[in-house]
Amino acid sequence: METFTVEAVVLKTDDFGDANRVVTLFTKEFGKLEANAYGCRRARSPLSGALQMFNHISVQITRSPKVDTIREADIINFYDALTNDLERLTYASFLFEVVNRMTFPRQQERETFDLLIKALPVLSKRNPRVAALIGACQFMETSGEQLNFERCVHCGREIDGDAAISLLDGGAVCMDCVDAAQDARPYPEGLRRTFETMLGFDWQDDTRLSFNSRQLKAAETFFIDYVQSVLGSGLRSVQFIRDFLS
Ligand SMILES: [Zn+2]
Repeated sequence: METFTVEAVVLKTDDFGDANRVVTLFTKEFGKLEANAYGCRRARSPLSGALQMFNHISVQITRSPKVDTIREADIINFYDALTNDLERLTYASFLFEVVNRMTFPRQQERETFDLLIKALPVLSKRNPRVAALIGACQFMETSGEQLNFERCVHCGREIDGDAAISLLDGGAVCMDCVDAAQDARPYPEGLRRTFETMLGFDWQDDTRLSFNSRQLKAAETFFIDYVQSVLGSGLRSVQFIRDFLS
């Protein structure tokens, strides 16, 4: 059986049995991987500290035909603030759920790994709602399901001023083509500028992010609809945001 060591972020954990956990990792080397960690919920287990959601870890895995097993895990970075603060936890969970649901196992996606690594400290220090939305927005751009925010998907003309946007057609629709889109919804200039800012956001830049609450709400509502329409079903974290944080 082959054993290998990878660098990863803990994307999701599911408990099973008395003390075990299925851990979904987003690895630098192989993209998303799932592996079992036996006994890791026992306090004395050397794995117990490392295999928590949002941790950045180095992990040794043994591959077998049936199931991969985690042997060792060491913390590279952890983010206390994400698990101690309900709002941060919820928004970070939103970004992680989007990435988990939109990716397939064993497809190397270095961009996504890098994005998670850059987003984690920002989610734990700055406005988590804005950070999660920026993270999800940038992730979707690399997902193969990206929308065209800048040009009309029907005629190719650059969008200027207020327009419409269609999830079915895959992006912006100019006012001349709006009748051709079945699910056109308003795409005001303010929303376009918000997406532009989010897509261009540099995670190392600590200047203030200024979105007014109306812009942010519009971007968030649109974005959640967009992700859920791609997935064809709802996101659990979104339900939680609506029930507890809205
Ligand atoms: Zn057009």
